[in-house]
Amino acid sequence: MAEHIFQALDKNNNYFNYIELYVQPGDIDNLTPNLAKRIARNEIIIHAPHMGNNFDPSAPCDPEKQSNHDKLKDAFIAAELFKSKQIVLHGGIYYGADSLSKNIDFINELPEQQKKLIAIENLPYFSDSDSVIKRRYAISSPEEVEKVINATGVQLCLDFSHAVCTAISSGLDPIEQIDKYLKLEPDMFHICDGLMNVDKDLHLHLGVGDFPLKDFLKATHGKPVSLETGKSRPRDCYAQIQDAKKARTLYNL
Ligand SMILES: [Zn+2]
Repeated sequence: MAEHIFQALDKNNNYFNYIELYVQPGDIDNLTPNLAKRIARNEIIIHAPHMGNNFDPSAPCDPEKQSNHDKLKDAFIAAELFKSKQIVLHGGIYYGADSLSKNIDFINELPEQQKKLIAIENLPYFSDSDSVIKRRYAISSPEEVEKVINATGVQLCLDFSHAVCTAISSGLDPIEQIDKYLKLEPDMFHICDGLMNVDKDLHLHLGVGDFPLKDFLKATHGKPVSLETGKSRPRDCYAQIQDAKKARTLYNL
């Protein structure tokens, strides 16, 4: 990580309360003691590998299933190292009616100590609409999320933008759908701006789109909120620092 990003993330600046850290398989092998020490100065929430690393808990059997469990190992090591209370986890692809139960089985195979760290994230109904093949995700609607929570006891990370995408893809009202996710009492949140009539996860900076951000933020009730603004890897965190300031202002209005 670049030095100016470390400075922006430094908790003494009070820009951010915590860092959500995406752990790719193999990352732990490349973690130097110096880097680990710097990261450990901050409060950390871990994000497990996702489809970008071919992690797909819908895979029904070995060797894919075992390979998915292997890919999670670094996330658990990182969670222990940085004392993370949550590991945000994506469900897999929808291959058919039993996809949800495959995901539930995958989670329930984890040792209890690991399972209690998992926060399942609601995904958009479809993967990136720009891609040639649109793929549907197995865990996106409030009903699917509820089934997973009831069957596994995991925590919930509510991604507002994914929730809007899912509602639009399904021809449903986004606000009504978000109320259903909120009834499941999410433990943490992902937020960015977007467009209320578009089924695409746009990762817009706060104030650029038309999401009712004040209402979204008020509904978080002081639980952790990760900013997911900006599509590309930031060269600095200037825009995200402005987003964090805006989010705090809106929350306190
Ligand atoms: Zn995620």
